[in-house]
Amino acid sequence: MINHHPNTSILVDFVAGVLPASISIMIASHMDFCRQCRQQVQVLTEQAAALEFEPLADSLSQSSQTDNFDIDHAMSMIEAITEFDIDTQVSLPQTVTEIAIGKLRIPLPRAIKSVALKEWQGLGKLSRARLDVQDDERRMSLLYIAPGGSVPCHTHQGFEITLLLQGSFEDEMGQYHQGDFIWLDGKHTHQPVTTAGCVCLTVSSDAIRFTQGMSQLLNPIGKFIY
Ligand SMILES: [Zn+2]
Repeated sequence: MINHHPNTSILVDFVAGVLPASISIMIASHMDFCRQCRQQVQVLTEQAAALEFEPLADSLSQSSQTDNFDIDHAMSMIEAITEFDIDTQVSLPQTVTEIAIGKLRIPLPRAIKSVALKEWQGLGKLSRARLDVQDDERRMSLLYIAPGGSVPCHTHQGFEITLLLQGSFEDEMGQYHQGDFIWLDGKHTHQPVTTAGCVCLTVSSDAIRFTQGMSQLLNPIGKFIY
């Protein structure tokens, strides 16, 4: 069961199309898993379309009373036009529809199937592959943490969005499962640990900062994850 969702103001921005590309992809990917957010986006899209449409409907009804104006038909036309189609937003030559870890095949969200995936790099139990999304300083990656792996205790200089694609992990704030959308920033300090292993889609706007022990020794991990 999904317990962590994007908040309503992010979904409003998603519908309005004003989010940076990488964050839009994260929302669309979460919606692959989450019926609740799909329904909320549907409602928000209808509301936004109705607001856009109201003045037009008024002027049309004043100018031509005899027109049999079908607002439902118009609404469905607008929906068809404004329907979110991430596939047309990012079109890069290489497509990856699933990743393989051992015998496990993990399907990727539709929103990243047309984004080029760079090669995997490993550091201990962590493996990371960047996604080729040009979005200023924000970096998008697939992160695999092998069973028993963890990321040392850290906080965030920018923000970090994690979408859990497969497996589970836990930290000081709780347990996370497939589909959970977790947005953390400098207000949060945590040490994610996974017993069974997990695959996440992440967006980070800056490097993480380790908070315990000889943190400078951990900097390579921080750079690796960002
Ligand atoms: Zn949701």
